[in-house]
Amino acid sequence: MVEDDEVFRRARERLIERLKSLGYIRSKRVEEAMRRVPRHEFVPRELRDRAYVDSPLPIGKGQTISAPHMVALMTELLDPRPGDKVLEVGAGSGYHAAVVAELVKPDGKVITVERIPELAEFARENLRRTGYDRWVEVKVGDGSKGYPPEAPYDRILVTAGAPDVPPSLLEQLKPGGRLVIPVGDRHMQELWVVEKTKDGRIRRERHGGCAFVPLVGEEGFPERG
Ligand code: SAM
Repeated sequence: MVEDDEVFRRARERLIERLKSLGYIRSKRVEEAMRRVPRHEFVPRELRDRAYVDSPLPIGKGQTISAPHMVALMTELLDPRPGDKVLEVGAGSGYHAAVVAELVKPDGKVITVERIPELAEFARENLRRTGYDRWVEVKVGDGSKGYPPEAPYDRILVTAGAPDVPPSLLEQLKPGGRLVIPVGDRHMQELWVVEKTKDGRIRRERHGGCAFVPLVGEEGFPERG
């Protein structure tokens, strides 16, 4: 509904101003990407009125859409450029993939892997409805092993907490590429930026604490019985 859209648009604008003033949004590019993607289209219908509160929200199957400040911070650190091929591990709602798509389009693309089939379908529907399926492909599987058929990647974004950097992801990163990943235990992590230099050396930087749902898979945490 048009009236609804205007209410959401204004709420989104207030959120963006807040994220700018707190220093999470630093660049015009990320600001514009977050302005363009309607987060309310990526949350369950009954939670739409909370879409522009800066907090994670449940999306079913015990998983969450990340808080907007975390999406902003990770996207700034990832720094996707137009034309890049990006791998996201943990599609969830598809929202973060859509924000990244805004930064790599029109010639780049995002491959996002989700281990829970029902969420992969949720992400696909959200991306189709908002038109981001032009640049984003959703795959079902264990993304801790990356997605070899489309490798190598300019950028890799992991949106679940890992015990360490999965070797497969490092392998699938291009020289000169960058990986953003929360590393820690099942509940608390630190945000790491890992860069592979042109001559293949690995550099890492730490960017403060965060709390993601665990990366569950062969190169992540074991599934709990
Ligand atoms: N990026 C998402 C968004 O914009 O809504 C939020 C992701 S949510 C915090 C983390 C997601 O990672 C969950 O949907 C979870 O099922 C998924 N996940 C966990 N381990 C995974 C794995 N090994 N491969 C792919 N997805 C995984």
